[in-house]
Amino acid sequence: MSDQLYHECHEVIAQGKAILEDLQQWGFETVQPLEIDSRREVDTPVIAEAAAAPYVKEMVASVVKKMSPPVTLAALQENLVNCDRCPLCQQRNNIVFGGGNPHAQVVLVGEAPGREEDLQGIPFIGEAGHLLEKILQAMNLSREAVYICNVIKCRPPGNRDPQPDEISACEPFLKQQLALIKPEIIITLGRFAAQTLLKTSTPIGKLRGQWREYEGIALMPTFHPAYLLRNPSGKRPVWEDMKQVMLRLENQAK
Ligand code: URA
Repeated sequence: MSDQLYHECHEVIAQGKAILEDLQQWGFETVQPLEIDSRREVDTPVIAEAAAAPYVKEMVASVVKKMSPPVTLAALQENLVNCDRCPLCQQRNNIVFGGGNPHAQVVLVGEAPGREEDLQGIPFIGEAGHLLEKILQAMNLSREAVYICNVIKCRPPGNRDPQPDEISACEPFLKQQLALIKPEIIITLGRFAAQTLLKTSTPIGKLRGQWREYEGIALMPTFHPAYLLRNPSGKRPVWEDMKQVMLRLENQAK
């Protein structure tokens, strides 16, 4: 192999490695094998050597094209169509991707769709959702102004807790939603959203009410509205947490 070819191959492999590392950071865990154009197949070592560098370059370029992170929420949602990355696909009626303002200053992250959400494909439209809307109204916000989504996009049967494998299958999509929206504030609702984004096992009772950071974005953990339906005494601390969010939004507007 000539020196020049050696250096070219080395450079392409280094670029490929960097690309794969970027993709991993974006949450891609597997790279699909590429379909190799049969016209480019080489049958002698001499031709193989000559073709190696441009071929590898082209292959890396196609990997990039194929695996580039989606640039819009709609493109990201497309990647979830017919998703079967975890067993929750077997019983769901709809994937609940999320909804609201794609340029929202505030993103609210819940746990997983419940019965109503699964039937309609819209997050937080059941009883907990009505309470969430009231909280938003009290903050002078609306569903349309914010973006609402969940850690898990498919309903766990009987509203059981999400399992670790289900969270890891779905988390890349949440991370990409947040990367695309780039909100100023994330409000996590309940333990799963806070613990997933903050990579902690600290109980929600300890996490709530304290500003944290996720990828440079201010994050306020608070109780889940479903918890408030069962424990109305949690409403006061949630309101304290939301007042902190309102204050931050006000200061940012100045
Ligand atoms: N609970 C959640 O965490 N998310 C929903 O969308 C509905 C209820």
